[in-house]
Amino acid sequence: METTAACSGLRCTDCGATHELDAATHRCPGCGGVLELTYDYSVLDLDPVGLRARPFDGLGRYAELLPFPRETLVTIGEGTTPLVGASDWAERLGVERVLLKDEGANPTGSIADRGATLAVTAAKRHGAATVALPSTGNAAQAVSAYAARAGLDVEAFVPSRAIFDAKAMINVHGGEMSVVGGRLADAIDAFEEAVADEQWYSLAAFETPYRQDGVKTIGYEIAEQLDWRAPDHVVYPTGNGVGFVGLARAVRELRELGWIDTAPTIHAVQPEGCAPIVEAFEDGHAKHEPVEYPDTICGGLEVADPPASRLMLDAVRESDGSAVATPDAAILEAAADVAQSAGVEVGTAGGAAASGALELAERGVFGDSETVVIVNPAAGNKESDVLRSHLMSKGM
Ligand SMILES: [Zn+2]
Repeated sequence: METTAACSGLRCTDCGATHELDAATHRCPGCGGVLELTYDYSVLDLDPVGLRARPFDGLGRYAELLPFPRETLVTIGEGTTPLVGASDWAERLGVERVLLKDEGANPTGSIADRGATLAVTAAKRHGAATVALPSTGNAAQAVSAYAARAGLDVEAFVPSRAIFDAKAMINVHGGEMSVVGGRLADAIDAFEEAVADEQWYSLAAFETPYRQDGVKTIGYEIAEQLDWRAPDHVVYPTGNGVGFVGLARAVRELRELGWIDTAPTIHAVQPEGCAPIVEAFEDGHAKHEPVEYPDTICGGLEVADPPASRLMLDAVRESDGSAVATPDAAILEAAADVAQSAGVEVGTAGGAAASGALELAERGVFGDSETVVIVNPAAGNKESDVLRSHLMSKGM
């Protein structure tokens, strides 16, 4: 399999075993642990000066830091999303500068596109005919788009509560969809039952190592958009953890490469109705306990049993960050506030990040000369009905 010069293989995050890129496609063949890609930066032919000379035109511009050469990527122009200033929010948080990293600007409207481009490229190269995954909605929509482009079939398992736009677009892209009554856990059960009898290539979160490796590019971009100075804080709303782990990975890589001098403090935000990472963080545990009765308006964050909580908790603690939960009402209020003050359309997950930032400010986490980046993982107009009904409930 043709790879970039620096990509050296796979490493198990549980047992530490290394594997050749062709020898493992999903989890660790030895212990079943989560795999991550490894890179040998001594052969890397790229630096910030070289990047500056390239147009800011998509995730492929970082291909030397990814497993596959740019011309082989299944791409629809994902990545290179805006980093938008929000001066009203700088005032609210009592900091020098607030920037919104708007992942809603991706082709299918969410950060999942960054993972889908690499994961579908890998599936194609591994000879897959059908890719399959359980999803709260956005990842399945993203995979359906990229699989359509690659000529692969899709089997998506989404809970009945998944947002309408994602369900509709899975079908519009030609994907097969099973809408499973209940919540994400029910969709995962149905997926696992079905996948056992089929020759499907799994693109479930952390089953494939490629989704989190694609998502790491958000970290490269934030650093590059700030002229290779890390922000002081990144506030990230987290559900299954693919984005969060990808961001932490980017910070580690950029530090190792010497492209940034300091690392940002990374904070995880979850809705109070489903906050397994926050609970584990507060209790000092290395792993989460599944939430028995998840209940939040934030469908994309309603992941009661995240598959790689240890990696997320390690990342928070290594960066000296924190994990905070906020109630649904505060999340909806913050999402509407961002739309009304900064003009940026954020979904409920972006609203969670913004309300988490307010909570962190209240706790005195931010300094008045600091820069805070708030990540919006998905477009606000995917959830316009939820945001609008919040306003209507207040008589607006
Ligand atoms: Zn292993």
